[in-house]
Amino acid sequence: MGRIITFASGKGGTGKTLVVANLGVAMAQLKQKVVLIDADIMMANLGLLLGLGGQKTTLHEVLAGKARLSKAIYNGPQGVKVVPSGIPLDGVQQVRFERLKGVIDELASKYKFLLIDAPSGLDRDAITPLTMAQEIVLVVTPDIASLSNALKTKIVAERFGVKPMGVIVTRATSKRLDIPGDEIASTLELPVLATIPEDPEVRRSAALREPVVTYRSKSPAAREFAKLAAALVEASPADSESSDLESSQ
Ligand code: ADP
Ligand code: MG
Repeated sequence: MGRIITFASGKGGTGKTLVVANLGVAMAQLKQKVVLIDADIMMANLGLLLGLGGQKTTLHEVLAGKARLSKAIYNGPQGVKVVPSGIPLDGVQQVRFERLKGVIDELASKYKFLLIDAPSGLDRDAITPLTMAQEIVLVVTPDIASLSNALKTKIVAERFGVKPMGVIVTRATSKRLDIPGDEIASTLELPVLATIPEDPEVRRSAALREPVVTYRSKSPAAREFAKLAAALVEASPADSESSDLESSQ
């Protein structure tokens, strides 16, 4: 059984999709068997960030019972596997969310890591992907709205028995208005696993639909992703089920 990690936040636009895409590619560069799934069914964009788009068979068709999962797994950069969601909204109508669990279990039986890009918020469809992972990583921007929403997400995850692993701070600047990392850690009572700086190369790479870890591997954001990928891999030995990122630090 692979390691299933959901990347979530209360607030939208904190960088969940960016983190899943780049962490996944960076782990694939380390020769790991990684699959990424876009569980943001309504606002799908993970595939777009990885140069995919226009696929006829996506998670939508699988959750609608119209296609087999194997037909919705695509090759992304560096050999990372991706299960994108569809972009057209009409594909959402026949989606049955209760089928997601079967999809996640099947992926976890075949891959060492399954990274789930979760929707924002805490309504029913957003909670579903939170409850299906073993662990959750909160993705926050260093501001009070993002932090307070992430705290609610953490509480809900814990209620479902999902272990909060840590927090990734994105879009960090050197401005005084940013909430400092130690305050984020103490508010959420979680370790900060990585701090991804605000980096113009992130915008550029997104426009070109390439992950920043391959587009500009020496940029500050790419270096942070590579470091986090290495730590995660190191903390997940090949034949051990009990892995813990914090314990490697
Ligand atoms: P979410 O999936 O949480 O809604 P996204 O990953 O789509 O968030 O990111 C939201 C926006 O913020 C995107 O336009 C993305 O390019 C931008 N962004 C995220 N992190 C950074 C960063 N470190 N530097 C610059 N732009 C960023
Ligand atoms: Mg997203």
